[in-house]
Amino acid sequence: MVVRAETTNSPVDAAAVREQFPILARTVHGRPLVYLDSAASSLRPRAVIEREREVAETLHSNVHRSAHTLAAETTAAFESVRDRVAARINAPAREEIVFTRGATEGLNMVARCWGEKHVLAGERIVLTRMEHHANLVPWLQLARRTGAEIAFIELTGDYRLDLDSAARAINGNTKIVAFPHASNVLGTVNPVAEIARIARDAGALSVVDGAQGAPHRSVDVQALGVDFYAFSAHKMLGPTGLGVLYGRRKLLDDMDPWMTGGEMIERVTWDGASWAELPHKFEAGTPHIAGVITFAAALDFLDELGMDAIAGHERAWTDYALAKLGELPWVTIYGPRDAHERTAAISFNVDGVFADDIAQLLDADGVAVRSGHHCAQPLVESFGVPATVRASGYLYNTLEDVDTFVESLHDARRLFEN
Ligand code: PLP
Repeated sequence: MVVRAETTNSPVDAAAVREQFPILARTVHGRPLVYLDSAASSLRPRAVIEREREVAETLHSNVHRSAHTLAAETTAAFESVRDRVAARINAPAREEIVFTRGATEGLNMVARCWGEKHVLAGERIVLTRMEHHANLVPWLQLARRTGAEIAFIELTGDYRLDLDSAARAINGNTKIVAFPHASNVLGTVNPVAEIARIARDAGALSVVDGAQGAPHRSVDVQALGVDFYAFSAHKMLGPTGLGVLYGRRKLLDDMDPWMTGGEMIERVTWDGASWAELPHKFEAGTPHIAGVITFAAALDFLDELGMDAIAGHERAWTDYALAKLGELPWVTIYGPRDAHERTAAISFNVDGVFADDIAQLLDADGVAVRSGHHCAQPLVESFGVPATVRASGYLYNTLEDVDTFVESLHDARRLFEN
């Protein structure tokens, strides 16, 4: 199904891949859609859309409850995706895979259920200066509730994590080190295994925000040596409202659920309840059944292409985009210049023009980018600006997309020159 290119530096023929994304056939303001907002949410290929319909037409039922055939088939399909996800990230056990609403819920769950139980006043939580709010605010709240202190791993001048600063921030008093696999603003891919090792050596847990990692790299939680890893399906061709939290079994076992109700209990009486086994004690209520089953089609698509090929494509695309933007003296780029060290999420500003104005003018040309603080307000404000524009590429973006985007950027700037 997927055609590989032989004529570009990319191992992926993005022009052939994009044919499999129906939405890319539409126009916006009369222009062909150039979608450069995959870091916010990726598009869905035909196979995922068709699977979703097929599930609705043939598998609709609740899971883990009724004994009828439809329920049994739906439960089996649902649980098979848990196996699939566990194998994909090399989790030692399927019980370590908790389905959530997204990375945000997974990270909040760790802060609430592990943090509140174990983090004491005066103990330290270490974060980085590149956090998305989803991996910042839950820890700030935890610190407020417990009296713990927060310390930060600083950035280098070229927008990477300063590992000397990490070694200084993570001390014997540290309980948790939470950091992103990759930054949604800078694109920087962090040395996850190395930071997890520093955390482990200090006796702290590592909590990885994988929202911008799992869509772009293969993830092996054992090789990385991480304790928790959270990500979202909608950034990797899957449905919205679904995510995964991986946690080491011993840690999950030791956590109490934060949401209670149906299906997460072992036994309930009029005056109390005991919890079901992992992972169900963290999945109260009816889960996103169709989403979970459909997610398998997204994983099929990614695996057919291969995560290494996807990373290679993104590298070639980013290299080209950075070179094109680098030719423009009126553009400031926030993020590493070496495509090997980053994802295809490129944040920038145009001298003298508001980021929102640029985004609006690009939209008029059919080019979809995001502007704002990208849910990383302290990071963006540390650049001395309130907002940036972010163009983020994925496996369906071509070099022609870059050309259209840069041409549109020229036109936008020209408007402000006059
Ligand atoms: N962390 C990072 C780095 C992100 O980019 C995002 C989404 O933009 C999230 C966390 C939150 O993901 P979700 O909104 O799917 O929960």
